[in-house]
Amino acid sequence: MAMFGKILIANRGEIALRVQRACRELGIRNVVVYSEADSQAKYVKLADEAVCIGPAPSPQSYLNMAAIISAAEVTDSEAIHPGYGFLSENADFAERVEKSGFTFIGPRPETIRMMGDKVSAKQTMIKATVPTVPGSEGALPDDPKEIIRIAREIKYPVIIKASGGGGGRGMRVVHTEAALLNAVAMTRTEAQAAFGNPTVYMEKFLENPRHIEIQVLADQHKNAVWLGERDCSMQRRHQKVLEEAPAPGIPRRLIERIGERCADACRRINYRGAGTFEFLYENNEFYFIEMNTRVQVEHPVTEMITGIDIVQEQIKVAAGEKLRFRQRDIELKGHAVECRINAEDPFKFTPSPGRITNFHAPGGPGIRVDSHVYAGYMVPPNYDSMIGKVIAYGADRNQAIARMRIALSEMIVEGIQTNLPLHRQLMDDSHFIDGGTSIHYLEHKLASRKNA
Ligand code: ADP
Repeated sequence: MAMFGKILIANRGEIALRVQRACRELGIRNVVVYSEADSQAKYVKLADEAVCIGPAPSPQSYLNMAAIISAAEVTDSEAIHPGYGFLSENADFAERVEKSGFTFIGPRPETIRMMGDKVSAKQTMIKATVPTVPGSEGALPDDPKEIIRIAREIKYPVIIKASGGGGGRGMRVVHTEAALLNAVAMTRTEAQAAFGNPTVYMEKFLENPRHIEIQVLADQHKNAVWLGERDCSMQRRHQKVLEEAPAPGIPRRLIERIGERCADACRRINYRGAGTFEFLYENNEFYFIEMNTRVQVEHPVTEMITGIDIVQEQIKVAAGEKLRFRQRDIELKGHAVECRINAEDPFKFTPSPGRITNFHAPGGPGIRVDSHVYAGYMVPPNYDSMIGKVIAYGADRNQAIARMRIALSEMIVEGIQTNLPLHRQLMDDSHFIDGGTSIHYLEHKLASRKNA
């Protein structure tokens, strides 16, 4: 199968620029689609071709399947890269892309559908012997006695989760039997309203876990590898703020065992493309929670420690190429940290769109900045507040952190508010420096900052 001649990028912002760079390096022409709010962006001007797909609100532009597919048709694109967010994990979109004769740069639609349904994803993982959080076998039944029995067996606290849930929504923690049935009923009602699917399931609620995830890459010839792990425990409201690779303080042999299970699961389900297995990690055990069937915001930390360009690999395997490395060729070297830079109030976290009047990106050894913004750029109010990412690489974790500290001190973003002050604080936080904080650490830190 020949490499694509032209790829359409169905996304915006830093990831559109990231995919564009991958295309340029591979010698593939790139088509960027944009909303009216993004017409002035530099990556739009850098594109080989650019097509306006609608007004600023995403339902009319970046979520508008018909407009994106017709942009692919008029530009004679061969493949569509969905980036992350927007339509990237929408099985119906992937199906429409393929039915219209284009290649979807991602897994097959049925894989996306299966992983998008958390009950079926979990069952698939159990079959593939990937460890999951102890819980109900599949969906919760209607019978209240059964629900009570399952919770007693798992032991409180438990968490009720919507099978169709996402983005940290549709979950409820239950501490006592008295609160159980009401919580199940409420989660069902909410799940029906939010996701059109009332199916819920039950898991043991882990009290103090870390978020550790495994990056995988699979071709269409039954080869699959895992590219190490990432620690994404630094979160606020289930949103990742800072990520690093490798995860500090976890025995290598435990991670290797879990990584092998993930690569094996990919082979079993005929997975295609890049993907991430997300786990909670507590007391030396990994518990699968969900799989993301797309490239992730935090993919650069893995690229830095493996030397593998994940976006280019996504494109190559979508074109039918075989992976050119095996597991034994993958060597994890050094350490990388990524800070997500958001246009937001660093204390109240309200979005801070507007014009960037002054911008200075950091540099120097080991520093990578993935961002589409510049001085004069207008951050539109319509989309996610992330304006870019700073990634620091070092021979070890201390060096990566030291370089990040310098990079953050050099970086200037004026005209809007950003979370740079928070990241600067984190680089001097003794618990972060020690490594291995849980998913609740940042919230606790922010709460005590407010009280101070
Ligand atoms: P979503 O798709 O909405 O992100 P996830 O299943 O990935 O849902 O869960 C999101 C977050 O909710 C996790 O990162 C974790 O903080 C919390 N969570 C989910 N399941 C559990 C559990 N069994 N125990 C403790 N926390 C959980």
